[in-house]
Amino acid sequence: VICVEGLRKSFGDHVVLRDIDLTVNPGQVVTIIGASGSGKSTLLRCLNLLETPDAGHVWFRGKDLAADHVDVNRLREKIGMVFQGFNLFNNMDVLDNCTLAPVTLKKMTKAEAEKVALRHLDAVGLADFAHANVTRLSGGQKQRVAIARSLCMQPDLMLFDEPTSALDPEISGEVLNVMRDLAADGMTMVVVTHEMAFARNVSDEVVFMDQGVIAEKGSPDKLFTNPELPRTREFLSRYL
Ligand code: ATP
Ligand code: MG
Repeated sequence: VICVEGLRKSFGDHVVLRDIDLTVNPGQVVTIIGASGSGKSTLLRCLNLLETPDAGHVWFRGKDLAADHVDVNRLREKIGMVFQGFNLFNNMDVLDNCTLAPVTLKKMTKAEAEKVALRHLDAVGLADFAHANVTRLSGGQKQRVAIARSLCMQPDLMLFDEPTSALDPEISGEVLNVMRDLAADGMTMVVVTHEMAFARNVSDEVVFMDQGVIAEKGSPDKLFTNPELPRTREFLSRYL
C-alpha cells in the first residue's frame, strides 16, 4: 500500500529521520515502537504529508508523495489518521462529526453519509451515541468515534499515533479491541504505540526506532523474543 525509501527529514540542522525504508503491504499491521524523540510521529506525519520529507521516496497509489505534485486533500481522503488527542469537533454531535468530511469532500448526500456513519459507529459499539454531544463522551468513546469518523472516508491506510496514550489503562482496552477488529477485517494499519501486548499480538511487523533510524524490524515473535540489537533489548526491558 505504501512504500518508503531512503526517507530523510530534518528540522533546522537537527536530523530527525534518516535512511528510513519501510514497506506496508495490503492488510498488514505495522507497529512502530521506540523511545520518546526517536522520530515515530515524524515518520507517521511524513506518510500523509503533515510533514514534507527532505529526501527519499514515499510511494502511495502510484505516486511519490515526496516528489510528485499531490493533492494533499485527496491524499488524506485515502489515508486516515487517529491522534492521541482525538481531534473531534466538540460543537457537533457524534454523527455530524462522522458525516462532515464525506459530505463536503466526497460529495456524498447527507442521507448516504449517515447510513455509512451508522454502520461504522455500530462497529465501534457507539450506534446508540449517534446524537450525543461529543463533550459528553469518555476518552475511550471519543477515540472510538475518531476511528469511526476516519473509516467513513473509506481509507486505504490508517495511521494511529499513540491512540491510547491519553487514556486510563482500563479504558485503553476498548480502543485496542476496536483496532484489533479493524486489523482482523483486513485494514492496512501503521500504529505508533507503547502498548507492547498489542504490538506483539496484533502486528505483522514491528519496527523499532532509535534516534531517527529504524534500528531493527521483524516479526513480533522475532523482535520480542529474540531481538538482535542490545539497544532493542534494552528498550523492551523497560516494559517487562
Ligand atoms: P514521542 O514518543 O515523545 O511522541 P516521537 O518518537 O514521536 O516521540 P517525534 O515527535 O517524531 O518523536 O520527534 C522527533 C524529534 O524531532 C524530536 O527531537 C523532536 O523534538 C523533533 N521535532 C518534532 N517535530 C518538530 C518540529 N515541528 N520542529 C522542530 N523539531 C521537531
Ligand atoms: Mg510521537
